[in-house]
Amino acid sequence: MDLLIKNGTIVTPKDTFKADIGVKDGKIVAIASNITEKAQEVVDASGKYVMPGGIDAHTHMEMPFMGTTTVDDFEYGTIAAAFGGVTTILDFAIQPKDKTFLETISLWRGKADPKVVVDYGIHVAVTNLTEDLVKEIPKVLEAGVSSFKLFMPYRKEGLMSDDGRIYRMLEESRRLGFLVQLHAENNSVLELLIERYVSLGKLSAEYHAKSRPNFVEGEAVHRGLALAAAAGGNLYIVHMSTKEGVAELSRMKKLYSNLYGETCPHYLILTDEKYLSPKGRRYIMSPPLRGKADNEALWEGLANGTLSTVATDHCTFTDAQKDLGKDNFTKVPNGVPGTETMIPILYSEGVSKNRISLNKLVEVVSYNPAKLFGLYPRKGTLNVGSDADIVVFDPDFEMELSQENLHSRIDYSIYEGVKVKGMPIHVFVRGKPVVYNREFVGKKGTGKFVPRGKYQPLN
Ligand SMILES: [Zn+2]
Repeated sequence: MDLLIKNGTIVTPKDTFKADIGVKDGKIVAIASNITEKAQEVVDASGKYVMPGGIDAHTHMEMPFMGTTTVDDFEYGTIAAAFGGVTTILDFAIQPKDKTFLETISLWRGKADPKVVVDYGIHVAVTNLTEDLVKEIPKVLEAGVSSFKLFMPYRKEGLMSDDGRIYRMLEESRRLGFLVQLHAENNSVLELLIERYVSLGKLSAEYHAKSRPNFVEGEAVHRGLALAAAAGGNLYIVHMSTKEGVAELSRMKKLYSNLYGETCPHYLILTDEKYLSPKGRRYIMSPPLRGKADNEALWEGLANGTLSTVATDHCTFTDAQKDLGKDNFTKVPNGVPGTETMIPILYSEGVSKNRISLNKLVEVVSYNPAKLFGLYPRKGTLNVGSDADIVVFDPDFEMELSQENLHSRIDYSIYEGVKVKGMPIHVFVRGKPVVYNREFVGKKGTGKFVPRGKYQPLN
């Protein structure tokens, strides 16, 4: 054996039990109590949890957006991911309007392959759907990409798809077995409200949130789910932020299967009061932060299974980049960091506060994304035969989150001063340590592109 992790408490979506894990050639080869076979490296995990690596199914590394580019490239972004116990990221390749899906994937692989320190996959973010591109989809599936994101908003930024195109992709998702991801906000209403605030000279960060009130998401979630049910398609709503959205998803899931929702750590623990602070623009992302009742509805949605995943929408802009909109919220590049702090926040704010169980944490950051995005059983679980993507998690490790002790290239943290208890201390990708004793020991370019299979429905 190459690696033996001894005396840990293994956590899966279903069970928590003491066992050792043996690894050879990047795969898990044994899970049993007291493995005595010799190994090149032995890690003592007494008093620690041993969990499958996290899958952050929503990141934007090196993404050009709103006239600038996210500051975390695939190297820094995946180092940050690794420190947070994330061993696979799924990044959005944004289709340039004149490129095919396959060309878009090559473009993104060109950026990612030489730099990634953890494994990664790609979703295509569709910006210009044509019937020719619909015909290309079977080849895209063969290339290992089985999810396509469409945007209801961002007309002016050139990303929007209208309802007809969304419906068309949902039809194909049924026929070909892929997953459609949807950014659900009502574009024409939010444009109207933005114009109204701008004309009144109301340009500070709080008007970002005021121009995208809860119903702007709630209505769009309803519309997306209704289109999916009508088309018989497979739909996953990204970054859900409102109690209205969760209520609608819960209602529609009873009528039709193949509907899923994702939320993000910032929607679980932050509120729109942040926009009133002098650095309010740091918190500008879409959809915006909401109220306490929304935080609670999202936790509840995770606990009861209405929401299936947590991912981060990691999309980093420095203060200097955010300052492009110093005097006008409409010019602030949208996005916040998150991949490094996702699992620690879910543990400290979710598990320790009895909002979700530890098994549920593993389910929403590993198992469910692995199934939905066609990575299971290679990833998302600790089973004999699976990739040895393993996190050794110390539930007693205390840390105050700060830009100083996090690894993104961004020059602030949106969680400055938040205290967490419980951190990943060792992180292995295919059996190789990337973080060890909270030191980076990985190497640029050693992460791999993971071709994904078809969407697998959750029960
Ligand atoms: Zn996003």
